[in-house]
Amino acid sequence: MYKRVLVKLSGEQLQGKFDSGFDAERAAWIANEIKKITAQDVEVVIMIGGGNYARGAQLAGGGVQRVNADNIGMLATMMNAIALTDVFNASDVPSRALTNIKSDQVLDQFTHRRALSHLEKDRVVIVAGGIGRPYLTTDTAAVSLALELNCDLIIKATKVDGVYDNDPEIHPTATKYSRLTLQQAVERSDIKVMDKAAIALAADHEQAIIVCKLLDEGNLAAAVRGEAVGTAITVS
Ligand code: UDP
Repeated sequence: MYKRVLVKLSGEQLQGKFDSGFDAERAAWIANEIKKITAQDVEVVIMIGGGNYARGAQLAGGGVQRVNADNIGMLATMMNAIALTDVFNASDVPSRALTNIKSDQVLDQFTHRRALSHLEKDRVVIVAGGIGRPYLTTDTAAVSLALELNCDLIIKATKVDGVYDNDPEIHPTATKYSRLTLQQAVERSDIKVMDKAAIALAADHEQAIIVCKLLDEGNLAAAVRGEAVGTAITVS
């Protein structure tokens, strides 16, 4: 059993039944899944994405500078964190949001000690603002945060139930890998789990990752118990 896990949630997971934005019903469903992890005495850190509102790479251009587009993307993650933390607390999952972007008025600043202090009080820590710098994604921020907070495992909760040799939504014959090594995930161009910067950081520090489907009920808790769900990406 793991002691502390980091769950990477993309913004898209929060839009639920909508085309974009925040679906409180979906957020409450996620809160319940996270509760199944904390009920096993495992601490949870969440790195939240912002793609349901804005992604820097898509927004940049036509006069919008990449740096500012990325700042908008990071603001999007903060909007998610604010709403998600409220829904978690309303769902009896004690949580606090912290951000890597300076914005005292709306969210507490992330600091290492503050995050640990919340975890010690059995609160889920939801981190927004990625790493706080442009040209990065929340996947890279998730790996960095997992290392910083000594998480035993990263769970990347996605739309599909693991890593495939091809996009399963387009190619029905695509096959799923149940295990991969971090080295394979770095080197092979057909394996698109996270951006390569994120996976390279994980490989450098032997940080295990499980990629699994968010919407399969009980999946996250099963991953935390060490059961075979999705694709496990480990040292060997
Ligand atoms: N972003 C950034 N630095 C970071 C993390 C995120 O500049 O450390 C920006 C980037 O523009 C990114 C956006 O925030 O596209 C939203 O994050 P991401 O695309 O990772 O969200 P997700 O796809 O997980 O919802």
